[in-house]
Amino acid sequence: MRTDNFQAPDYYNIDELLTDEHKIVRDAAREWVKREVSPIIEDAAQKAEFPKSIISGLAEIGAFGPYIPEEYGGAGLDQISYGLIMQEIERGDSGVRSTASVQSSLVMFPIYKYGTEEQRKKYLPKLASGEFMGCFGLTEPDHGSNPGGMTTNFKDKGDHYLLNGAKMWISNAPFADIAVVWAKDENGRIHGLIVERGMEGFSTPETHNKWSLRASATGELIFDNVKVPKENLMPNKSGLGAPLGCLDSARYGIAWGAIGAAMDCYDTALRYAKERVQFDKPIAGTQLQQKKLAEMITEITKAQLMAWRLGVLKNERKATSAQISMAKRNNVEMAIKIAREARQILGGMGITGEYSIMRHMMNLESVITYEGTHDIHLLITGMDITGIPAFQ
Ligand SMILES: Cc1cc2nc3c(=O)[nH]c(=O)nc-3n(C[C@H](O)[C@H](O)[C@H](O)COP(=O)(O)OP(=O)(O)OC[C@H]3O[C@@H](n4cnc5c(N)ncnc54)[C@H](O)[C@@H]3O)c2cc1C
Repeated sequence: MRTDNFQAPDYYNIDELLTDEHKIVRDAAREWVKREVSPIIEDAAQKAEFPKSIISGLAEIGAFGPYIPEEYGGAGLDQISYGLIMQEIERGDSGVRSTASVQSSLVMFPIYKYGTEEQRKKYLPKLASGEFMGCFGLTEPDHGSNPGGMTTNFKDKGDHYLLNGAKMWISNAPFADIAVVWAKDENGRIHGLIVERGMEGFSTPETHNKWSLRASATGELIFDNVKVPKENLMPNKSGLGAPLGCLDSARYGIAWGAIGAAMDCYDTALRYAKERVQFDKPIAGTQLQQKKLAEMITEITKAQLMAWRLGVLKNERKATSAQISMAKRNNVEMAIKIAREARQILGGMGITGEYSIMRHMMNLESVITYEGTHDIHLLITGMDITGIPAFQ
């Protein structure tokens, strides 16, 4: 079992920008990750198992629906607290953060925003407590970056909808109790439906042999003439903008989460470099390793400021989708570069499970691809500043 000696870097005293509530929420999540995630996560990742034992703890630190109002079981926190919780969880592992992101932003958020009052009351408190786990089905085998091309569809059969199609790469799918599924009606319009485990014709086979996000369960969603009750359609928003609204919220959380992974890699590499002696002196005393470490803390500091400012804009309901794309793209790339450099600082030890760096590095290969690839976020920024879409 690994001892977690993590010390969070705060080179620009960014703590001074946080409220007391932010720091209380952040510190509780940090302590929980040290106590409950760090001791077990390496083993879970090596075995490619999602550690279900941490679900109740995630609920207790407010990771399921941090910004959902308390009347529905959420924590009723602001967007910066949400971001800080994601940062701390991803400091432990991106796969665990993925589970929390999906539950909060991709399942609870659409039910809260687009669902009926009955749907809110039925599902949100159970999702907030972890009694129910959810997943989000948007991506299909032939439609990833272009989800608008989806072929999953439903037909109105009078007293129910008949759902057919398939989704792939779905986080939490193998154990989820409910799935928020995006499908086209007979007119080709996209709607969100809540599909429950146990509905006939609905299956969730697990995706095996991943080298990334191994402590997160990924699977397919298969719909073979699934009869979905009409009251399971979320009526308050339709069209591609509905799932994209959920992605905005999740991508914002990732912009913070990636900082956590980067901080863990930096902190580990800094400590190792000060202790590891070669040629009769610590490798931290060499110019080459100092360059790596100095650049890491500079990039982390820039990412922290970007995330904090985006959080302020989110709290003021002013953050645009393009601003969120820029932060997700920048911060994940920053984290992946830091993970690669940090791994080298540890030499051979860097490839082992004794340290968290290689796990973060492999996890971040998924984080840079899901919720909009690195390329797609660049195209979003390009479109925003030129006014010309370059997707096709
Ligand atoms: C571990 C994991 C978990 C996931 N969890 C979920 C989930 O819970 N729910 C869900 O719905 N999805 C999920 N996804 C799916 C993820 O969102 C998609 O993988 C992602 O959107 C990319 O789609 P794709 O893999 O089909 O790649 P593609 O869209 O086929 O892209 C392949 C490459 O082509 C590039 N490309 C595509 N279009 C363009 C263009 N117009 N111009 C230039 N380059 C382009 C991309 O940037 C990429 O490099 C998950 C994926 C992974 C790996």
